[in-house]
Amino acid sequence: MIYLDNAATTKICKKAQEARAFAEESAFANSSSLHSFGMKSNALIIKAKEIISSVIDSNPNELYFTKGATEANNIVISSLSGENSIALTSSIEHSSVYDSFSNNEYKEIVYLKNDNYGFIDLDDLKNKLNSDVKLVSLIYVNNEIGTIQDIKAISNIIKSYNKNIILHIDATQALGKISCDVNKLGVDLMSFSSHKFHGPKGVGGLYVRKGILNKIKPVLYGGHQQVISSGTDNHPEIYAMSIALEEQIASNEYEHVNELNLYMRDIILNNIKECRINTPQDNYSPYILSVGFSNIKSEVLLHMFEDKKIYVSSGSACSKGDNNRILLGLGIDKKYSDGVIRFSFSNDISKKDLDYTLDVLKESIDTIRKVM
Ligand code: PMP
Repeated sequence: MIYLDNAATTKICKKAQEARAFAEESAFANSSSLHSFGMKSNALIIKAKEIISSVIDSNPNELYFTKGATEANNIVISSLSGENSIALTSSIEHSSVYDSFSNNEYKEIVYLKNDNYGFIDLDDLKNKLNSDVKLVSLIYVNNEIGTIQDIKAISNIIKSYNKNIILHIDATQALGKISCDVNKLGVDLMSFSSHKFHGPKGVGGLYVRKGILNKIKPVLYGGHQQVISSGTDNHPEIYAMSIALEEQIASNEYEHVNELNLYMRDIILNNIKECRINTPQDNYSPYILSVGFSNIKSEVLLHMFEDKKIYVSSGSACSKGDNNRILLGLGIDKKYSDGVIRFSFSNDISKKDLDYTLDVLKESIDTIRKVM
């Protein structure tokens, strides 16, 4: 099998599995229980906060755990809603941000302009700031095409206009892969998710800068555990997530993954006619490579890959759902937008795997184009 769908989810790493098993076996008490066995569970949450906060350069007390980035994003967007509140965002956000805005009441939700590679127009941002703007929420690494947004520049613009405007980023595709130092980025809130960096699924969190916690309202009431979301803490997976993050950082895989990304671009451009690389050439996450092929339906190509045990994502504008909105928002030429495939990498992929993927790609494209 060649798994090239790591932006959808990654395989949990051994150390995270062991950490989870340890907690489930030897520290399974409720982390809120006052006895010493409960404190042993709580110690794992404290450890997890220490590890994650050292990666993002926050205080451990500024971290809150959720069941993933969807929950974290929803908490942010519902918390800052209100009839006097204007939010700035983009039309190429993940659905957990985009749909959350659609389902919350705001005075106005303003969509910033972006170019074909997903970079926000900074002049447009400057022009759209006004005294009712309470929240700016943007994706850090775009999950469809891998664009890295210049969050530092965005933060500088916003904060020099009004330091009370809250900047939230969705760092789901970024944490563990590129720098997510909350101080260097100048962000107030940052969502993340464990299963994108080889941790367990169904767990993630929200960084909340000290001083703004009072603006964040829980989505679930009934306990005090995570303040912003109640319920018995899932400490085995919280702990396992932090171990996975530690592993991901220690793996030093960035260079290898970047080589894969550049190699794949090269072999596709040199061997396949009529295609467009949607991922930018600069300021991209090497973990994601999106390519549009003319005269191709991406679902058909995806299934041809699947027949050879190669797993990729389709990002087709003709498919129902979210990719459609994002590709439209990127303004990708109609010629290529129905045949978009997202390859997303991890450390265990080799160039040999990519050579085989190219062989299958060439053959499949020839077959599809012949009948279209
Ligand atoms: N934001 C982005 C950018 C994502 O890629 C994803 C996962 N596809 C999410 C949010 C949702 O994350 P989770 O699965 O943890 O809810």
